[in-house]
Amino acid sequence: MTVDTRSAVEDVLAGLDDDQRAAVLAPRGPVCILAGAGTGKTRAITHRIAHGVLTGTTAPQHVLAVTFTARAAGEMRGRLRGLGAEGVQARTFHAAALRQLRYFAPRVFSGKALPDLVDSKARLVGQAAARSRLRLDRTGVRDCTSEIEWAKSAMIEPAEYAAAAAKAARDVPIAPEQLAELYAGYEQVKRKMGVIDFEDLLRATVWAIEEHRDVADQIRAQYRHFVVDEYQDVNPLQQRLLDAWLGGRDDLCVVGDASQTIYSFTGATASYLIGFQRRYQRSTMVRLERDYRSTPQVVALANEVIAAASGVEAGVRLKLTGQRPPGPSPRSANFPDEPAEAVAVAARCRELIGSGTPASEIAVLFRTNAQSAAYETALADAKVPYVVRGVERFFERPEVREAMVLLRGAARAIEPGQPLAEAIAETLSAVGFRVGDPPSGGSAREKWEALAALVRLGEDFAAAHEGANLSTFTDELAERAAVQHAPTVDGVTLASLHAAKGLEWDAVFLVGLAEGTMPITFAKTPAQLEEERRLLYVGITRAREHLWLSWSSSRSPGGRASRRPSRFLPESAGGAGSGGARPGSKAAGTKSGPKSLPICRICGVALFDPAQRKLRRCGGCPSDYDEGLFGRMREWRALLAKEQKLPAYVIFTDATLIAVAEQMPASEQQLASIPGVGPRKLTLYGDAVLALVAGADPLSLTAPTTPDDDA
Ligand code: ATP
Ligand code: MG
Repeated sequence: MTVDTRSAVEDVLAGLDDDQRAAVLAPRGPVCILAGAGTGKTRAITHRIAHGVLTGTTAPQHVLAVTFTARAAGEMRGRLRGLGAEGVQARTFHAAALRQLRYFAPRVFSGKALPDLVDSKARLVGQAAARSRLRLDRTGVRDCTSEIEWAKSAMIEPAEYAAAAAKAARDVPIAPEQLAELYAGYEQVKRKMGVIDFEDLLRATVWAIEEHRDVADQIRAQYRHFVVDEYQDVNPLQQRLLDAWLGGRDDLCVVGDASQTIYSFTGATASYLIGFQRRYQRSTMVRLERDYRSTPQVVALANEVIAAASGVEAGVRLKLTGQRPPGPSPRSANFPDEPAEAVAVAARCRELIGSGTPASEIAVLFRTNAQSAAYETALADAKVPYVVRGVERFFERPEVREAMVLLRGAARAIEPGQPLAEAIAETLSAVGFRVGDPPSGGSAREKWEALAALVRLGEDFAAAHEGANLSTFTDELAERAAVQHAPTVDGVTLASLHAAKGLEWDAVFLVGLAEGTMPITFAKTPAQLEEERRLLYVGITRAREHLWLSWSSSRSPGGRASRRPSRFLPESAGGAGSGGARPGSKAAGTKSGPKSLPICRICGVALFDPAQRKLRRCGGCPSDYDEGLFGRMREWRALLAKEQKLPAYVIFTDATLIAVAEQMPASEQQLASIPGVGPRKLTLYGDAVLALVAGADPLSLTAPTTPDDDA
């Protein structure tokens, strides 16, 4: 080894912690790195490859590193080059399969070249639908196409589809038997045209290797060491290809985080990652738990959210420890409506940019693409540049463009005096839109949401402009579309949580964290709900320093405040009954009197929700509780719980303490009017609580009460 190589090897090992180094130095053979978010997974595997290459134990041309997106593969190649490991193949499964099959095609397709790849799967599905007289609109075709992709990725044939879909609790866009027929029809159309799709490409590569000894020998002689990043995202078809490449050998290093499994709906499964050790008995297991990306504050919240997870993925969950210096606490905020939430986010973005955070280091992440519209508008209004990643810009969506053409046409014909929102909804009914009647999921739902967003824009516009009509509204839309079309290079990222995977920013805004959106309404089974929780976890772990979590109580201004915060938000982040704290607001709270009608003490609406009744405040009104008092009461409760060996919630729940902190009872009678404070608790703890409200130190209050025996 030359002096130069020796120092390159030292460089590869420097800047790794002990666990990362163990992963890099693990002997050849099966290695499984179970690593949490931000723990340096890509770092560990690229350094492992580079170490093998630089020390001469592996020849670069014998390594095949695979991952799932072209961006991730490019990132890997870049890092490998930077480490001095040239000549290693780092590709997506598809790119690797395409390269191999193209090479072997003449041999396995009797002298013919590889068939062309389908350019638009949906178009062929549409043709198959027409042949079997199935009436599907564009979104219906898109949803059926996704379903066919799922089946093919799971290696499910048309005849097996209906049973498999039922078993997997798929949300099938049409009757399962019809889908099976459509799937069979699509395969026929494809064969007739002499083209193949992406899944066929993987299947054909598997077949070429499994059924052709010479192909298998040649591929296996070429590739001897395999590395897979984001292994929790592998689907059965890709796994089959990986097995074909390996051909019973075991020089395989996989990296993954089961808690970040968010593509199950496309057929991916963490079961291969979780079952790795069972499959390879003599494998080296490495766990990476040090988070180098996020502050301890962000890491603590991420841990808290994922600690509540259940299911197989949770069985291998890792508890992260933050390595960065402390930063600001995550902020949680509740707003009366979505536009108010978006305006506040835009204002905070401006503030961050003003204090030196580059716009490109900020991201606003949401659950469904349709949510981006409100943020595009608010950021444009606040003159904050933004880029939309992985989703079409609102005004570039086909359904929005089509709607704008319709609205412009209707502007000439509509009766004067008709309320604007009504006129919009009536016009959009021509494309199948029904107010208050959203379809259950998939792109049909996204289309509905986009059109509903247009109706809301109309409502807002009418509220702000006297005499607004379809004509002035379409002018307004055209103007907004023009502003948003303007290309931006450096801006705040707007992205769905799915598209944010693997990325990181200094500041991250997680918005729309209300029940119905997070988890999304169409997540119904326990497994689907767990995937939603993981999605929130992925979102939280994208933030290096600033994290914001918000939700709004109603969709539009003046709407009924019927929404509740996401069940996944811990109390510390404004969830589970606390109603969420509005940052910086201190509304004038009225002290509570004797027991009265359950109405919001701030706005007076009737309260039906038990948690809101306890607070005597609706979800739409700002919380005005005294945080200092709440903190002292919690401290007192903790001391008392310890002393009396009781769980803390048996003394008082957090919701009751918040109600006390909000209502600041000055007498025993006022305290007794707070739900959760019954006669027994009044006797046991009444004096202490009133003393705390009056300013007493928790330490001076423990020990005077003893639990009675009737507990
Ligand atoms: P994700 O699960 O989100 O994909 P990951 O495990 O792939 O995350 P990386 O993106 O590789 O994590 O690393 C996260 C961040 O931590 C990067 O900015 C990386 O440079 C940094 N990092 C990783 N390991 C170390 C280390 N030992 N010392 C300092 N920084 C590190
Ligand atoms: Mg990564």
